[in-house]
Amino acid sequence: MKVNPRGILYIISSVAGGGKSTLISLLLQKYPDIHFSISVTSRAVRPGDEPGKNYHFVTREEFEKLIEQDFFLEWALVHDNYYGTSKRYIEKELRKGYKVILDIDVQGFRIIKSKIQAMKSIFILPPSEEVWIERLRNRGTDSPESIERRIKNGRNELTRVNEYDYHIVNDKLADSLLALEIILFGEKKEETPAQNE
Ligand code: 5GP
Repeated sequence: MKVNPRGILYIISSVAGGGKSTLISLLLQKYPDIHFSISVTSRAVRPGDEPGKNYHFVTREEFEKLIEQDFFLEWALVHDNYYGTSKRYIEKELRKGYKVILDIDVQGFRIIKSKIQAMKSIFILPPSEEVWIERLRNRGTDSPESIERRIKNGRNELTRVNEYDYHIVNDKLADSLLALEIILFGEKKEETPAQNE
């Protein structure tokens, strides 16, 4: 795969339980040249997490120290835990020309949008509210209180989806992956001025 000389960030957001993580891992398995920005978080490790692969886990104190050291391109409190993106990693990847996936929330998206031009944003939508809540409850990874908090936050996030460049309704995984591939590889042709006859 040819590497884009400028590099580009793809922000992917979703409500919790929207199927985003599965979609991203399928994409990364299929295209090893697409890189994933591993966020730093202070949240507790959940079953299925792979420290150093899906997140770098730190304590709240360690995270706050990193904020002081200006380590983050963006950081946010999500569901009462800190999450942040390494500034150095993103700058390096963009310089090298990679397509980089960032799995971040709406707050992080807004910060990156105000700082970086070479980016596209994608919001993964569940097919319906009923399916979404059912998926969230069936994940088996969150406590009942955490599920209720994620539903409340998710409803709030859904009011901001129009700020994103693309929406993918995640009904069938294979179709959603295809939609994602089209967004990543179907670059829009640069506008050229009309030629005078
Ligand atoms: P989870 O703990 O369920 O993996 O993620 C919770 C939320 O945090 C998700 O919406 C995810 O996109 C978001 N998130 C993960 N990493 C980052 C990050 O580095 N920055 C921001 N702003 N949000 C993040």
